[in-house]
Amino acid sequence: MGGANGKVAVIAEMEEVGRPSRITLELLGLGRRLASPRGEVWAVVLGSGVKEACGELASRGADRVFYLDHPSLSPYNPEAWTRVLKPFLRERGEGVVLAGHTPLGQDLLPRLAFSLEAGVVTDCVGVRADEEGLLFTKPVYGGNALAGVRVTTPLALATVRSRVGEALPPTHTGEEPVPLPLDPPGETRVLVRERHRLEAAECPLEEARVVVSGGRGMGGEEGFEVLRELARTLGGAVGASRPPVDSGWAPTTCQVGITGKVVAPDLYIAVAISGSSQHLSGMADSGKIVAVNRDPEAYIFQVSDYGVVGDWREVLPAFLTKVRELVSE
Ligand SMILES: Cc1cc2nc3c(=O)[nH]c(=O)nc-3n(C[C@H](O)[C@H](O)[C@H](O)COP(=O)(O)OP(=O)(O)OC[C@H]3O[C@@H](n4cnc5c(N)ncnc54)[C@H](O)[C@@H]3O)c2cc1C
Repeated sequence: MGGANGKVAVIAEMEEVGRPSRITLELLGLGRRLASPRGEVWAVVLGSGVKEACGELASRGADRVFYLDHPSLSPYNPEAWTRVLKPFLRERGEGVVLAGHTPLGQDLLPRLAFSLEAGVVTDCVGVRADEEGLLFTKPVYGGNALAGVRVTTPLALATVRSRVGEALPPTHTGEEPVPLPLDPPGETRVLVRERHRLEAAECPLEEARVVVSGGRGMGGEEGFEVLRELARTLGGAVGASRPPVDSGWAPTTCQVGITGKVVAPDLYIAVAISGSSQHLSGMADSGKIVAVNRDPEAYIFQVSDYGVVGDWREVLPAFLTKVRELVSE
C-alpha cells in the first residue's frame, strides 16, 4: 500500500518572483508531518528566477531544494514541466508528491500521474499517515460526503487544498539548493506567446486572506460595487456564488464553489448567499465565516461563525463605516 515511506516531495509555486505561495509553505509543513522522523522532505521549484525562492523553501521545512531556472518553464507550461518532473520523480520511485489544489496543481499532477503510471488523488482536504500507509480524504457528492482514498502504487500524487497543512516558522538552514541535473525542455507543442489577465485583477482569490462574496440577493452589478469597496478596505478579494457570475454581475474568475475556485481565507464574508452545498464546498474550510442574509432560515447561518439577519443594503454601509474607522485607527 502506498505510503510516504519517509519521502515527500512538494511541487512549489510562486506567489511572485522569488516568493513561495502560501499553499507551498503549508504543504512543506504537511510534508514534515507525513515524513517519518528520519524521512526527507524535498521541494522542487521550476520557472524563471526561482533560485531566489530556494532559501525560504529550505527554511520552511524542505531538507533539500531542487530547482531548474529556465525561461522555457515560465509561465507554467504543462508539457515543459512534465518533461522535467517525470524523470526526476521516476528516479525517486516512491513516496508522495504534493501540490496545491490550484489551477497549476490540478493541471500538472494528473498529467504526471498518467505518464508515471502512478495513482493520484485530487482536491484533498486531509492527508494522514497510519499503519497502512497514507490516507487521503476528499469531498465527494458536491461536498456532501467525504471519501477516504488510498493509493496502491509506490509513488502517490495528491493535490491538496489550502489550510490542510500549517506553514512552519522559518528556521536557519545552511543547505544549498541543488540545480536539477536535467536539460531544460526544448520546443513544446504548445507555446504561450502572451498572457492577459482575465477580467478582474481584483480577484487573486486563492491567496486572499479575506474574501467578500456576494450571491443572487445582491440584485445586480451595483451590489458588487459595495462588496468591492468592502474588500478593498479589508485588503481582500471579491468572490461570488454562481448566479451572479451567470448573470454577468461578477467575472467568472470570482466564482467560488464546486465548479469555481476553492478558497480558505482567514475570513470569508458571505453576503446574500443561501449556502448551497455547491457553494460551501468551495469555502467551508475558511477560518471564520460571517454571513449576511435577510432570511433567518438561510442554511449559510448553519456553517457561519457570525451571522447578521438583515438586508445587505442596510447592513453593509454601517459595517463598512465601522471597518473604515477601525482600519484608520
Ligand atoms: C452542477 C452544479 C454546479 C454548481 N456549482 C456552483 C458553484 O461552483 N458555486 C456556487 O455558488 N453555486 C454553484 N451551483 C449553484 C448552486 O446550486 C446554487 O444555485 C447557488 O449556489 C445559489 O447561489 P446563491 O446562494 O447566490 O443564490 P440563492 O440560493 O438564490 O440565495 C440568495 C440568498 O440571498 C438572500 N437575499 C436576497 N436578497 C437579500 C438582501 N437584500 N439582503 C440579504 N440577503 C438577501 C436570500 O435570502 C437567499 O438566501 C452549482 C449548481 C450545479 C447544479
